[in-house]
Amino acid sequence: MTDIGRLVRDIADEMRGAEERGQVATYIPPLARIDPRRFGLCVVTSDGEIHAAGDSEEAFSIQSVSKVFALTQALGKVGDTLWRRVGREPSGTPFNSIVQLEREHGVPRNPFINAGALVVADINLAGHEPRVAIGELLRFMRYLADDDSIIIDETVARAEQTTGFRNIALANYMKAFGNIIHAPELTLGVYFHQCAIAMNCRQLAMAGRFLMHGGFYAPGGARVVSAQRARRINALMLTCGHYDASGDFAFRVGLPGKSGVGGGILAIAPGKAAIAVWSPGLNANGNSLLGTLALERLTEATGWSVFAR
Ligand code: GLU
Repeated sequence: MTDIGRLVRDIADEMRGAEERGQVATYIPPLARIDPRRFGLCVVTSDGEIHAAGDSEEAFSIQSVSKVFALTQALGKVGDTLWRRVGREPSGTPFNSIVQLEREHGVPRNPFINAGALVVADINLAGHEPRVAIGELLRFMRYLADDDSIIIDETVARAEQTTGFRNIALANYMKAFGNIIHAPELTLGVYFHQCAIAMNCRQLAMAGRFLMHGGFYAPGGARVVSAQRARRINALMLTCGHYDASGDFAFRVGLPGKSGVGGGILAIAPGKAAIAVWSPGLNANGNSLLGTLALERLTEATGWSVFAR
C-alpha cells in the first residue's frame, strides 16, 4: 500500500526544487503579482483522510476551476435542458477562443471554455440579482468545502472586469445569437466573481469530494447530485477540463481534472480521492506546469489513473 502522506510530501519537496516553473498569468494584473515559487498539494482520500504539503493553506484565485461548481449549480436549476445551450465536446481551442462560435451559432463547445462558462453563468443568474447568484455559488462552495471562511477576492474580480475584453466580446457575441439572455454586463459580473473565488488546496479538495463519492457529500452524508450527474461532470472534466491540452492531461495524468489560470487544478480519482494542487506558473496552454507534473507523479505512484487496471 502506498503511503499517501509520504508521497504527497515527497512530491511537494520535488516541486519546491523544480527550476522550470512556467509563466504566471499576466493578463489579469493581480495574478501577475503571485510568487511563482508557491506550491501546494492536498489529497482527500475516500475514507476522509487529508494529506497536505507545501503551501496548501494559502488561498489562490481558483479561476476556471469554479466552472465545475457553477456547472453543478446550473444543472441543479435547469437539468439537462442546459445542453440545448452548451455542447459537451472538447473544443481543441484555447480557453478564451471565439472562432468556433460563429460556425456553431453561438453555442459553445462545452461548459469549461470561457464561452460555455458564460452561458452557465447566465443560467445561474436567471431570476436573481447578480449578487444573489454569486452569493448562492459562494454558499455552495462553503457547504461543499465545509468551510465558511471562503471569500471572493474583490481585487481580482474588479481587475477582470476592467481587463476582460475577450470575455466581454464572447458574451456580446453570444448575446447576438440569443444564447445570453441577460444584459451581458450582468452575466459577465457573475462570471468574473465566480472566477475570483479564493480558496486553498485543502478547501478545494474538500469541495471536490462529491465527485469522488458518486454524488454524495461524504460516505453516509447527503446527496449533492445524482450518481449519473457526478459521472457526467467527471467525464466533462476528463475530456474538456484542460482546454486544448485535455488530451495531454488524460495521457499523462489519467484523471478528470479542471485547471484555472491561477495555477490551481482540481482532479478526481473516482472512489479514491479528491486532489487539489496549486502552482501559479503555467505551461503554453494556460495550465499549471508543476501542478500537472505533480498529478502525473501521484497517479503513477498510486495507480489512480482511471485507465489503470
Ligand atoms: N477568469 C479567467 C478568464 O476568463 C479564467 C480563465 C481560466 O482560468 O482558464 O479569462
